Amino acid sequence: MQQSARVLIDGPSELVFDYLIPEGMPVQLGCRVRIPLRAKDSTGTVLEVGPVPDSKFTLRPLKALIDPEPLITPQLMKLGRWIADYYVAPLEQVMRALLPESVRQDAHSEKTQKVVELVQTPSEEEREKLAKRAPKQHILFKQLEANDGKMSLKDLGGSSASAPAQALAKKGVVRILDEAVRRNPDEDQEFLESKPLQLNPEQAVALKTILSPPKHDSGIPKPILLHGVTGSGKTEVYLQAVQSNLDQGKSALVLIPEISLTPQTVQRFKSRFAALQDQVAVLHSHLSQGERFDEWHRIRNGEARIVIGARSAIFAPLTQLGIIIVDEEHENTYKQETSPRYHGRDLAVLRGHFESATVVLGSATPSLESYQNTRIGKYSLVKLLQRADSQAMPIMRVLDMRIEAQKQKSKLPVLSDRLRSSMDKKLEQGEQIILFLNRRGFARSLQCPPCGHVIECQHCAIPLTYHRTEERLICHMCGYQALPPKKCPSCGDEAIMFQGYGTQKVEEIIQKVFPQARLARIDADTMRRKNALRDTLNKFKARKIDIIIGTQMIAKGLHFPNVTLVGVLNADLGLHVPDFRAGERTFQLLTQVAGRAGRGELEGEVIVQTFTPHSPSVQYARHHDFDGYADQELEFRQQFAYPPFAHCALLGTRSNHERRAEFTLENLHKRLSKNLPSGIELGEPMPSPLTRAHGQFRYQLMLKSHSARALHRHVQSVLKATPAPDDVTIIFDMDSLSFM
Ligand code: ADP
Ligand code: ZN
Repeated sequence: MQQSARVLIDGPSELVFDYLIPEGMPVQLGCRVRIPLRAKDSTGTVLEVGPVPDSKFTLRPLKALIDPEPLITPQLMKLGRWIADYYVAPLEQVMRALLPESVRQDAHSEKTQKVVELVQTPSEEEREKLAKRAPKQHILFKQLEANDGKMSLKDLGGSSASAPAQALAKKGVVRILDEAVRRNPDEDQEFLESKPLQLNPEQAVALKTILSPPKHDSGIPKPILLHGVTGSGKTEVYLQAVQSNLDQGKSALVLIPEISLTPQTVQRFKSRFAALQDQVAVLHSHLSQGERFDEWHRIRNGEARIVIGARSAIFAPLTQLGIIIVDEEHENTYKQETSPRYHGRDLAVLRGHFESATVVLGSATPSLESYQNTRIGKYSLVKLLQRADSQAMPIMRVLDMRIEAQKQKSKLPVLSDRLRSSMDKKLEQGEQIILFLNRRGFARSLQCPPCGHVIECQHCAIPLTYHRTEERLICHMCGYQALPPKKCPSCGDEAIMFQGYGTQKVEEIIQKVFPQARLARIDADTMRRKNALRDTLNKFKARKIDIIIGTQMIAKGLHFPNVTLVGVLNADLGLHVPDFRAGERTFQLLTQVAGRAGRGELEGEVIVQTFTPHSPSVQYARHHDFDGYADQELEFRQQFAYPPFAHCALLGTRSNHERRAEFTLENLHKRLSKNLPSGIELGEPMPSPLTRAHGQFRYQLMLKSHSARALHRHVQSVLKATPAPDDVTIIFDMDSLSFM
């Protein structure tokens, strides 16, 4: 039977067309092909191979196969199919994620340069002649001799060296060739080699477990959750585990949350493997297309055996994969926010499984998903309880802002007296301070400042969201609605509708209170410029900045020995958002932020300001008690059937016309409720907490199920049978981490 190929066409618009496969052409998925497009020839990548589709159009045949071997390894192809299935994404979108555009599209091929190579050493006599009659050629010749007989034309002087080089070539002394040059993104940086440290006993156990991991019955290594408090030396363990894999001839993949936010981690890898520089590839979003092309091919052909990158690096075409490390595995940035909406950590576990590689998930605050997997024996657990530098954990003080509000006679005080006097002292001593402002969600919950009470849905135990236009409180899990109260149901105060403040406002206030202090603000607004973050952090390191005010961007693996005070201005802002993970995130944030203090000789102090000082996330973080927090939080999750005890997915519609978005979702809801498999909970359609973004109205509903398969299959079948109207976009987010 004749087959057809679905081809993703090169070019900015990334069209997809079907073509007939000529008899005998061995076309496979991921192969690049030459195709007719309108009156011209073009190139593309094969996304799917299958029977010729029924259509009134006759298909044109493929012209030629460009590379007989597909660009994608069979294992990655398997991963791709799994993604398409699980996340209900078209295979073509998955292929776009698997193969970077720079690799698929012909435009970005190898870069070459002219190289001059000595092929014959002239006799003494000839040399003298050269020196006398053609001094330029003589100089060029001497330069070559001094450099092992080979130099690029550029290094020889560029265009001015061109004529003498050609003259020498004519005489048969040299030849001029085109040689591929690597576009090295780190060319301008030097890395000093760092030597492995002597591991402490805890680290030694961790490394041993990683190098000979407990196995499933199938013989495949169990993923290892490395739970190590901040500063416990996880990175050193990763480095030695990678080294050992290299020694065994295997390759290593290291995922980090976001390259620009964790420059220090990349530096440490680059330094440790400085002698193997060319074997390290760093993949990140700031690479040029050419650099990405080169790095990808260096990985594919086995030159680079260590890959460090953010979430999409999970698709790095490494072979002989020995180990996958996911650093800060709890981070949300591992979830892709456009289709295919995969989770980098989950794919790491899966890829490890497919390729029998060891998977290490590291964190000071593991996700409850991973932690639960250790409780049921799917993953192994290794703990690092001590800081590697044997520093004490910093002391965390919790300040009750309800009392502060009374004292300062202000509804929403920014700076408590305690924090202010602490800052005074540190500045006087020439020590540095980080002030942390949890980003305020756009969704507004109602919290009473005098008593701290938050209005919640009684079915779902998450805060209700206040929708100003409808003057309604809505539950974003189940759709429950209520009128906003005039008074606080707990204490009767009328101050329940309070207003928040943002980073900019805080910066103004702090500058007023400490006019001498040098401030810098780090948030998405101030850090748009490339390298802005790196520059600011370098200045901070050089002590040219006294106080950094920042959002969660600064909560990650930074290491500043001179920071002795970390202030969390408003722990509540992240706590009372309509998301059952709000507590977990706050706990993570407080723990991570606290880990930024006292990383050197000086003792660290952490001050947390909150209107709900007794919330478990605050209290357990204060006692550095992850297990305690996780155990009580898992109980709550189980009671309300939230992940990790069930899968949660979001189905949403977006449109410029509000009614169209609403109507389309209602229609989908109707179809989903028909033949709803048992065990799937289907929520009501409602406006999203973020009701409008980029000019588009947003509606959504939640789905919950114990079985992931039942869930994605059901949604898949309904979406297939219900094409979206032209002016509506449908999104489906399996294992959603954001309910906005
Ligand atoms: P984590 O990644 O767990 O936050 P790091 O790897 O950053 O911890 O380690 C914290 C500090 O302790 C770093 O300065 C690191 O160089 C140091 N360190 C790690 N392991 C050891 C060790 N075995 N001996 C001495 N110092 C160590
Ligand atoms: Zn509810």
